[in-house]
Amino acid sequence: LFIDQPLADGMDLRVEGGQAHYLLSVMRLKAGGTVKLFDDRTGEWLGEVAATGRRDLVVRIAAKLRAREAVPDLWLCAAPIKRGRIDWVAEKASELGVARLVPVATRRAVVDKLNSERLRAHMIEAAEQCERTALPELAAMVSVDALLRDWPAERSLYFADEEGGTPMLDAVRGRSGPAAVLIGPEGGFDPAEREAIRARPSAVPVSLGPRILRAETAALAAVSVWMAAAGD
Ligand code: SAM
Repeated sequence: LFIDQPLADGMDLRVEGGQAHYLLSVMRLKAGGTVKLFDDRTGEWLGEVAATGRRDLVVRIAAKLRAREAVPDLWLCAAPIKRGRIDWVAEKASELGVARLVPVATRRAVVDKLNSERLRAHMIEAAEQCERTALPELAAMVSVDALLRDWPAERSLYFADEEGGTPMLDAVRGRSGPAAVLIGPEGGFDPAEREAIRARPSAVPVSLGPRILRAETAALAAVSVWMAAAGD
């Protein structure tokens, strides 16, 4: 369970609201029961239920289980896509281990707004489910121009281009260091965007195969290829 405050040995933590409902009614925890907690700062802890109320409970932090992990340094930069599918991408990318999700506003996007609170909730839930001890970060939405303008030179930008590029596995094999994958919207990038992306020195146009994948499939395929090659 993600707790948004620093945890420390011996502390008594009052849990309320949705998290209390989950522990009391879904997990059916009683006094003496245990739960794993993480705070995205210090790591993962074992908590023991000290007392339960009708709508809240007190969890005593009993022991440290793991330090906060070092996450693979991969960003997923992706154009927002329709509601359920961007939530799905955020969830699955979090499970696969991305460090940061960067929503990118593109000219052909069908969707130009994001509910970042909802998206972040999906990312937290995914982190809890797969037992990450570090939350993926959700960046503010940026335009393609702003993304490219501020792009850190040392971070490889694997640009998934359905019109052709090096097969992604060949492009990433043997390369280390910070990286990102960039995925377009349902309608793809427009020609000016493609040209601007390709012109960046850090950009590596990559192909994910001969078929045109839906944006969400392309995002997860690209993340999986990078993770597999990086051994993370
Ligand atoms: N331009 C297309 C169109 O509307 O016909 C398709 C765009 S595709 C649905 C969405 C995004 O997925 C693309 O911008 C690209 O980043 C990525 N993508 C899809 N298939 C790919 C492939 N075979 N190789 C590399 N990237 C791909």
